[in-house]
Amino acid sequence: MKRKLNMPSIIAFLTLFLFITSCSSQLDKTVVSVQVQTGPEPSPEASVVDRYYLNNFQDSLKTKSIGSVSRGSLQNGTLIPFSGSNFMYFDTASYLSGRAFTHKLVAQTVINTFKTFELNGEKRKFSIMEFSNEHGGKMFPHRTHQNGMSVDMMMPLQKGGKPYYGLDDLGAMHYLLEFNKEGQYINDTAISIDFEMVANEINQMHIEAEKLGLTITKVIFNTNLRDELFATTNWQFFAANSPYITRNLEPVINDLHDDHFHVDFEIIP
Ligand SMILES: [Zn+2]
Repeated sequence: MKRKLNMPSIIAFLTLFLFITSCSSQLDKTVVSVQVQTGPEPSPEASVVDRYYLNNFQDSLKTKSIGSVSRGSLQNGTLIPFSGSNFMYFDTASYLSGRAFTHKLVAQTVINTFKTFELNGEKRKFSIMEFSNEHGGKMFPHRTHQNGMSVDMMMPLQKGGKPYYGLDDLGAMHYLLEFNKEGQYINDTAISIDFEMVANEINQMHIEAEKLGLTITKVIFNTNLRDELFATTNWQFFAANSPYITRNLEPVINDLHDDHFHVDFEIIP
């Protein structure tokens, strides 16, 4: 059954997309002047991303999250790497617009999660979506993501029992993808959310967070897809120590959390 996104959410995300696209075209103009010619020639885009990461990554100052995820700010955050051996940020323009900053412990939790998968022989590649602004605060159209303690994780997909990556490179438009109540992509029901992998991801993030003194306070997850998540073998294995998964969401929020899930962290006092 096809669900329709309502008009405010479509407008919000088209605005986001247009904003990011306009930032992207401004950045394109700077590519020529900053291209670095060392070793194998990087693509102009990779060069800008690498330079941006090197200029903004920091691990010397202590990060401070101020306030809450829905009303807060971030001091001395860090930038998540654009990519690692088995993960990638979903949108270059979003990245270069400063929307992938986060608390250092959150960055470390995300990186350690993927590193653990790799060490365990997991072959899948993962995509991560938006984090926070450099100094936190409002990041339209998100209601939260304000204090560097929120992350959006792209739902891993599968087709014919194998990982499917064909929808991973849509950039900001990925937020608009629609899935039915069984977690199938509405334009091609052969493509579906890999709930076993989602369960693994949430629980591994939870484990890695606690090792660093963080806890997951909430996972915003489409309420129509909870049953599929809870039915997985992986979820049942971890169920006794699983983080809180949202039970009720406003329709507009629910509609937007089918292509990704959102995780809020807090420092354990
Ligand atoms: Zn989010």
